[in-house]
Amino acid sequence: MSEVVIYNLGGSQEIGRVSLRHAIRMLHRRVAEVLEAVEGETFGPYQRPRSVALVRYVHTRWVYERQGRVPYSRAALLRRDRYRCAYCGGTATTMDHVVPRCQGGTTTWLNAVAACEPCNAAKGGRTPEQAGLRMLRRPFEPAFRDIYPSAPAPRRR
Ligand SMILES: [Zn+2]
Repeated sequence: MSEVVIYNLGGSQEIGRVSLRHAIRMLHRRVAEVLEAVEGETFGPYQRPRSVALVRYVHTRWVYERQGRVPYSRAALLRRDRYRCAYCGGTATTMDHVVPRCQGGTTTWLNAVAACEPCNAAKGGRTPEQAGLRMLRRPFEPAFRDIYPSAPAPRRR
């Protein structure tokens, strides 16, 4: 039986190979999605995959189990902060660099908070102190549970 290549989230990094049957089970359990299909061939309800890519939560768990840290992403940041703006407590849809990039701030857990568009725009390229904004909470490095509270606990080494 032919093998299917497994890629990391986003499809940029190959992380293994499994049997076609195993790959179909991954699609069925929704832990992976078809990245490249064999044209014109199906396998049950699925396109026959040549490769699959892990979905975000599996990728996050995979990194967490190996490195003990949740990979930073904008989507995970919004989950960490429960979609609440760090400055006004309103509904957040954007990420804000606490120390802005133009002042040397990095895109990391400890320099990122969720923010609503008005607060983000009002803050601009300034620090909270410079903009006269009070932070309702401090950024922190999340555990897997902070991002996926209802998911099965990852194995930690
Ligand atoms: Zn706000």
